[in-house]
Amino acid sequence: MQQSPTLPLAGKTAVVTGSTSGIGLGIATALAQAGANLVLNGFGDAQAALAQIEALGVQAVHHGADMSRPDEIEAMTACAVQRFGGLDILVNNAGIQHVESIEHFPPDRWDQIIAVNLSATFHAMRFALPIMREAGWGRVINIASVHGLIGSVGKSAYVAAKHGVIGLTKVAALETARSGVTVNAICPGWVLTPLVQAQIDDLARRESISNEAATERLLGEKQPSARFASVEQIGGVAVFLCSQAASEMRGAEIKVDGGWVAQ
Ligand code: NAD
Repeated sequence: MQQSPTLPLAGKTAVVTGSTSGIGLGIATALAQAGANLVLNGFGDAQAALAQIEALGVQAVHHGADMSRPDEIEAMTACAVQRFGGLDILVNNAGIQHVESIEHFPPDRWDQIIAVNLSATFHAMRFALPIMREAGWGRVINIASVHGLIGSVGKSAYVAAKHGVIGLTKVAALETARSGVTVNAICPGWVLTPLVQAQIDDLARRESISNEAATERLLGEKQPSARFASVEQIGGVAVFLCSQAASEMRGAEIKVDGGWVAQ
C-alpha cells in the first residue's frame, strides 16, 4: 500500500484505548500527526484530549467504553466503523496497576487488572480483526510492558496480565500471518505518566522522602539510563509499526526501557 511521506496514515482510522492521558494520549497524538483519524477512549478529560488531537487537523471522537466490559468494547469498535467507515489501527493501551504482596492482594483488584490489562485486549482484537481482514490491511499494537517479560515484587496481577498480553500478541500474529494485518507489542520501561506518578507518590509517602528522592530511587532500582522514556518516543514506535517497513514484523516485543531488560 502507498503511503504519503508527510502524512503516511492519512485516511486511516485508529482506536487507542485509554487515550485521555499518558502513553495512550502520546500514541494518539503521534498517529494524528501522521494523519490518522482517531477514536479516543478513557476516563480522563475527554474534551482536553479531543482538543489536542483535533488541533492537528484530523477528526476525532471520544468513546467512553469501560474496557472491563466486552459489550462496551464492541460498541467502541462499531463506533469507529460508523463514524469513519473502518478500523485500521487498534492500540490496546488502557491499563491499571495495584502494588501489594500476593497474600494481601485484594481479589477484586486482581480481577479488575486482568479484565482491563489482558481480557480487553482479547475482546478488542476479537471485534477488530474481522474488520481489518476484510479491508486487507491492519495494525494491532498491544501496549505490554517490561513486566510482560520479567517480574517485580508486589505486581502479581500486572505482571501476569502483561505476560498474558505478550502471549496473546504472538498467537494473534500467527493467526494473521498470511494477511495484511500485523500484531505486535511495545514494552515500555518507566514512562512518567499519572500511573507512574501514583507509584512515586506512594513511595515518597511510605519512606517519608521527597518526590525527587522517590523518583531517583524508582528509576535507579530498575532503569539503567536513569531517565524516563517519553510518551513521544512510544508514539514514534507505534507510528513505525504502522509503516510499510514494519509490515513483516509479526509477534514482536519492542522494548523502550532504557536498558531495563538488558540487565
Ligand atoms: P495512565 O494512567 O496515564 O493512562 C491509563 C489510561 O487508561 C487512562 O486514559 C485511563 O482513563 C484509562 N483507563 C483505565 N481504566 C480504564 C477502563 N476500565 N476502561 C477504559 N479506559 C481505562 O497510564 P499510562 O502509564 O499511560 O499507561 C498506559 C499503558 O502503558 C498501560 O497499559 C500501562 O500498563 C502501560 N505501561 C506504562 C508504563 C509507564 O511507565 N507509565 C510502563 C509500561 C507499560
